[in-house]
Amino acid sequence: DRIARFDNAADGGLNSFITVTPELALAQAAAADTRLASGAAHALTGLPLAQKDIFCSQGVRTSCGSKMLDSFISPYNAEVITRCNDAGLIMLGKTNMDEFAMGSSNETSFYGAVKNPWDTSRVPGGSSGGSAAAVAARLAPAATGTDTGGSIRQPAALCNLTGLKPSYGRISRWGMIAFASSLDQAGPMTQSAEDAALLLQVMAGHDAKDSTSIDHPVPDYRAGLNDSLSGLRIGLPKQFFGEGLSSEIATLIDASIAELKKLGAEFVEVDLPNSGLSVPAYYVIAPAECSSNLSRFDGVRFGHRCENPSDLEDLYKRSRAEGFGEEVRRRVMIGTYALSAGYYDAYYLQAQRVRRLIKQDFDQAFTQCDVILGPTAPETAFALGAKKTDPVSMYLQDIYTIATNLAGLPGMSIPAGFSDGLPVGLQLIGPYWSEAKLLNVAHRYQ
Ligand code: GLN
Repeated sequence: DRIARFDNAADGGLNSFITVTPELALAQAAAADTRLASGAAHALTGLPLAQKDIFCSQGVRTSCGSKMLDSFISPYNAEVITRCNDAGLIMLGKTNMDEFAMGSSNETSFYGAVKNPWDTSRVPGGSSGGSAAAVAARLAPAATGTDTGGSIRQPAALCNLTGLKPSYGRISRWGMIAFASSLDQAGPMTQSAEDAALLLQVMAGHDAKDSTSIDHPVPDYRAGLNDSLSGLRIGLPKQFFGEGLSSEIATLIDASIAELKKLGAEFVEVDLPNSGLSVPAYYVIAPAECSSNLSRFDGVRFGHRCENPSDLEDLYKRSRAEGFGEEVRRRVMIGTYALSAGYYDAYYLQAQRVRRLIKQDFDQAFTQCDVILGPTAPETAFALGAKKTDPVSMYLQDIYTIATNLAGLPGMSIPAGFSDGLPVGLQLIGPYWSEAKLLNVAHRYQ
């Protein structure tokens, strides 16, 4: 009912869902009732959830925010969907997103922009903007997101949510439509750290169907939520507090630091000397991987096919030109260029070297501290349309989040207060497999 009331774009609603699945939800709810009555329920059985439309969902349109997949009904479920179903969670529908998860404002979606519930003239962030808006407006208590360069954390920050991008390999990517395979990772978007712990518990774990899924024990994420922060060493990277950060956000982060000190944490300055190279390295690596991943959308096997092709070449060209939006085409062209003979060494290989240096910076910093703290995004939610025609300023939205993906590390955004009525996010970054520690800090802080 709340989705019908607040989400209909034609009535000026939020537009956070691409597809709503009431029949499926009612069938799953009936099954949850039976399961609850039998006493064999999971802690989350019967609770509703919104799924980002990047996860293949059997029998339900899986569009990835693109015209290319507007009519694609997946024949199978992504592993994330299967795990949520097995826990007895109820899928309300599929949430809006930037096309193929490329963007930071949800404005590249074929299904139109999403409004930020805190100020409907502003963006919710992206690419998981639909999931963020749906949870912030309480159309769903929790949602899934994916994060390749910041797409869980930045929209969580802009919508006052808790969003966690786990360590690379923690959650199966099987059935999650690939953007940049070495960076993509799913995670929970929720109202609290405790909710994030509960949903992560369902999503995490080894999956033999995904060769990059890591067989590492999954701890009880709720067990340590109340642990003391006394003696915890928190690193403040000097590069995260310089030019480019709005002064209002810096003030709120300072207040958070004072709060964490009261909880017993100690602060040290750390150095991430190569962090300024993370956005340029990412915008070589991510487009390179996307140009390869998106080659499967050829008008033959999946999705959109042009009318009356004159030959195979024409079929490829027109199907892709018609099916992909401007940002996706830009990335495919950049990536193809960066991977082409003669440029591979100069761009792709060089970016991979920078990636290694960024990883080493974190390894060094984590000899001095247990977790790193900084802003999630350089500014609060911006006006719809404000950056739509300026890709570089859009790319800089992820200046504090991208290094984490390049290093494969877990990162989290948690609410840090409001500036002029708009939410501000605080980012926590930890070493590999430190999700429980990040959740503990977030829970104590909240
Ligand atoms: N904003 C970044 C991009 O456009 C990251 C997106 C993401 O994490 N999926 O690529």
